[in-house]
Amino acid sequence: QAKAAGRNTLAFFDPDMQVRLQARARLEADLRQALPKGELRLYYQPQVDARGRPVGVEALLRWMHPVRGQVSPGEFIPLAEENRLIVAIGYWVLEQACRQLAAWAADPARSALSLSVNVSPRQFREPDFVERVLECLETTGAPANRLKLEVTESLFLEGREEARERMLRLREYGVRFSLDDFGTGYSSLAYLKRLPLDQLKIDQSFVCDLLEDEASGAIVASTIALAQRLRLEVVAEGVENEAQRDWLLAHGCRTFQGYLFARPAPLEALELDA
Ligand code: C2E
Ligand code: MG
Ligand code: MG
Ligand code: MG
Repeated sequence: QAKAAGRNTLAFFDPDMQVRLQARARLEADLRQALPKGELRLYYQPQVDARGRPVGVEALLRWMHPVRGQVSPGEFIPLAEENRLIVAIGYWVLEQACRQLAAWAADPARSALSLSVNVSPRQFREPDFVERVLECLETTGAPANRLKLEVTESLFLEGREEARERMLRLREYGVRFSLDDFGTGYSSLAYLKRLPLDQLKIDQSFVCDLLEDEASGAIVASTIALAQRLRLEVVAEGVENEAQRDWLLAHGCRTFQGYLFARPAPLEALELDA
């Protein structure tokens, strides 16, 4: 055992840490193989309007690990971000999503749907990000104005001007932007003045207890009002029951995403008909 740990002196001080590091290293090695081995899949979750009709869909990554089963993106995305694997993975996601969008464009029952894709700051900051997105739209034939890129506040902590400029360039082609997990980052509200955003997503951590927690209710109500004043679409995520939906409706929110309507699922299992 001591020999296997080699020179890593951490083993002397904290065997638990050593075990965690090993598990992590193994997961990381597996993740490197996930894309070439075809273990990544996209699930899709609808976003619905006040009447429950789908208006858009968010693409959510799943890793079907051969031994561990389905690994949550909450676990492997941070890992992929640390070692830059997120760049290759991110482009794979984008391409799958664009192909889907192109297929929908040819179907009158689906052609109005937008498709939201999560973009990690690391991928967004790649020097050729804009070109790669445009190339993907072009090669797949996906309509740019149906593609919504979901970014988080962390993107604007550093290099905000550059991010803004990239957003503006993509927007010229019709690509839209959504600010995911709004209110959970460390950013200031000032960026809302200058960035070309189209949508705010209210984080599920506020939605889940808005009926029980006064602060959450206040934050959600204020976010909806803020979005309206800024003429941004607002989406509540993590809506799990009718009481939450009714509260959100009463406070002016018109677009919802959550288990109440549908769980993320493979495309074949998705019900997108109004
Ligand atoms: P997110 O973008 O904020 O996605 C929403 C998460 O909430 C998803 O978790 C979704 O499955 C979950 N969710 C939806 N409705 C409900 C609900 O009613 N109740 C609860 N409790 N949860 C709900 P998921 O799929 O595990 O993804 C977690 C995060 O991983 C995402 O958060 C996103 O930040 C990241 N992620 C997922 N796919 C990608 C991707 O393709 N690229 C990047 N960069 N990040 C991704
Ligand atoms: Mg998202
Ligand atoms: Mg979110
Ligand atoms: Mg989230």
